[in-house]
Amino acid sequence: MRIAIASGKGGAGKTCVAASLSRVWPRPRIAVDADVEAPNLHIFLQPVLDAPEPWHLAVPAGLTSACTACGACRDICRYSAIARFGKKIKLFPDMCHGCGGCFAVCPEQALTEGKRELGSVARGKAAFGVPYIEGATRVGEVMTPPLLRRLLACAGEMAQANARAQGAEPDLICDCPPGVSCPAVTAARHAQALVMVADPTPFGFHDFTLAWQAFSQLPLKLGCVINRAAMPGNAGGDERVRAFCRERGLPVLAELPFEREAALAYSQGRLLADISPAWRQRFEELAARMLEAFRNCDQAGCLDKGGRHARLS
Ligand code: SF4
Ligand code: SF4
Repeated sequence: MRIAIASGKGGAGKTCVAASLSRVWPRPRIAVDADVEAPNLHIFLQPVLDAPEPWHLAVPAGLTSACTACGACRDICRYSAIARFGKKIKLFPDMCHGCGGCFAVCPEQALTEGKRELGSVARGKAAFGVPYIEGATRVGEVMTPPLLRRLLACAGEMAQANARAQGAEPDLICDCPPGVSCPAVTAARHAQALVMVADPTPFGFHDFTLAWQAFSQLPLKLGCVINRAAMPGNAGGDERVRAFCRERGLPVLAELPFEREAALAYSQGRLLADISPAWRQRFEELAARMLEAFRNCDQAGCLDKGGRHARLS
């Protein structure tokens, strides 16, 4: 089963939840850090990593003398990565999205192909022995979905290799990019089930509703975790999230309490599941509820006629 841990905003607690779930998950699993713009799951899992593998995008890098400056490549490019100044064609490979359109339409095949490094993927093992994989965007690179797709494909390969070696395909527990823009949706589309981590503050709630709008459109089973529940000074915040979930049939799988000790431990890079028996039990119970709520969601036939998972009640 491929499980995404997501949120409508950064700082809601998805990495915190993903890290501790990776620790206590009762089935074989692979921890995936898909927050490729700012991967930080490694801080908590302390993996030993193999050498990172760079990943590139094919981009137009130059023009041969066959170019007639017809402008067809410029006209098809939706990202302004090609411009024409009089009889001169200018390429901006840093703005290219790698769609291949310019190569396809050039009547003279005058474009030469180069590559732009998007970032890298690294595999390893967490300190507690669980397989781990992460992606990291190259500093200065703005486009992440192709790297994310590569990362998720590698995670799938790892899962299949582990299945061959151990007889059971591991679950993927994927720490998603924050928000609801292209990177988060790319990661969510790869999943079969998704946990939305809600920050119950007014600002967090607003972004949680955006996450619902985005992720409820996808063929996913969804659940919610309320993080920092019962936070002082946030009266009514938890109930606002609960009511929202009730109205939409979105199960609240756990409420993780706001505790100063937990915040301190997290700031020190410690796994909450390891700081006390009570916190470990919270994550074990969350894992059990997820397995119950998401049961069979990796099986054919779980989707309804519209290609969506039946809503949970
Ligand atoms: S489509 Fe080909 S020939 Fe036309 S301007 Fe572009 S590179 Fe030159
Ligand atoms: S590959 Fe696509 S995005 Fe890149 S320059 Fe060509 S048309 Fe533009």
